[in-house]
Amino acid sequence: MIPHKKKHYKGKCPHCQNIIEFHSVHFNLDSDNGEIISNCDSCNEKFKIVTINPDESYIVYGARKESYVDYDIHSASKFPEIQGIINFEGSLNDQKMIFDSKAKPIYLCNDCDKSLEEIAFHKLDNAFSEIIMAYSDYTTIDIKGYGFNPQKAIFLLNIKCTCNKEYSAVFYKKYDHKGYDISDFNLGNIINSKPLESVIDGTMSKDDCMELLKKTLVRWELLFDKVLIITPFVGHQYLSDEKLIDTWFSILSQISKDKAKLITRTASLNKVKKAISDNIHDYNELEEYHLSVTQIDEATKLQASHAKIYCGFSHKHCEIIHGSANIVYGPSKEQITFKSYGTYEELYNKFLHQLGAKGLDLNEYPNNCGKTSNVIFDESMNFKAKQILNEDFEKLLL
Ligand SMILES: [Zn+2]
Ligand SMILES: [Zn+2]
Repeated sequence: MIPHKKKHYKGKCPHCQNIIEFHSVHFNLDSDNGEIISNCDSCNEKFKIVTINPDESYIVYGARKESYVDYDIHSASKFPEIQGIINFEGSLNDQKMIFDSKAKPIYLCNDCDKSLEEIAFHKLDNAFSEIIMAYSDYTTIDIKGYGFNPQKAIFLLNIKCTCNKEYSAVFYKKYDHKGYDISDFNLGNIINSKPLESVIDGTMSKDDCMELLKKTLVRWELLFDKVLIITPFVGHQYLSDEKLIDTWFSILSQISKDKAKLITRTASLNKVKKAISDNIHDYNELEEYHLSVTQIDEATKLQASHAKIYCGFSHKHCEIIHGSANIVYGPSKEQITFKSYGTYEELYNKFLHQLGAKGLDLNEYPNNCGKTSNVIFDESMNFKAKQILNEDFEKLLL
């Protein structure tokens, strides 16, 4: 393929202001000038996008590419031009999940209490070529249409503690055909490690509480259908904008917009929007161009309450962290406790319905999340691809 790079743009339909995203393809050597003749998805009217390499450049959403004009051959069309173009690289929503095996661990050996996390990541490193081979073999099948339509790719790796006790580490990544980097693989669980009830329990620094929460969110993103973050405050009032934004994104990076819901005070949301507007880009404009943070935009209001509740749940299994810690870093001490429950109903009755927040509902279930399909590769079965539904996670992964 000819070396090229893409530039990402958004603009508005000149007829109806519908948001259009398009990518301009740039070659290192020769480039053509011209336009894409487009048809708006919203109003069905025609407009043009003047761009480099109009043949290779393409529309991502908002309109259809009808044809293109190369200005070396033909003159420009009379169609009105796309308006309000902005160039953007990446989105605030595309933050990478972090699992720092050097920070305070949640997965400890049941016998000797040592952390198993570095051993697990070391194993991931060593087994990576086998993992990639299994992933690629499966992708060949998936592309032909014989796959399971998986949401996630899950890998079970055999690991051994320094005391010789054996465990199975569960790594996962979102399943797609986009290729892979080792940092895309997250640690979702170490099966039969020390119960989290006894690991996440006690009084410790805000920093440690945050590390435990961030790792548990990585776990919940794999194991459960939904995640809730309920906290009145994010950061504290003396935090600089930069630190406030970092604090927010250290949690936002750990949750997905499909699963997680944020419930916090309106003042906390307004503060981070202002910090983003003052330091990154005007938040209203980001919102207008669909580049704002989904979790922030869809957050619901926490009424007068100081509850700090973080939970992951499916219909028949729930885990919760609660205590005194807001989303904030620091040396001062907070109390933190982990518990699990057999049903969502129990979690809801004990912790959630009293808050009366919008979006907290007992009728969250039943739904079809349990039937969500994934592909699992077990080292003990030579990484042979198998299907696993979310509703079977409890037997196999928990
Ligand atoms: Zn339009
Ligand atoms: Zn051990």
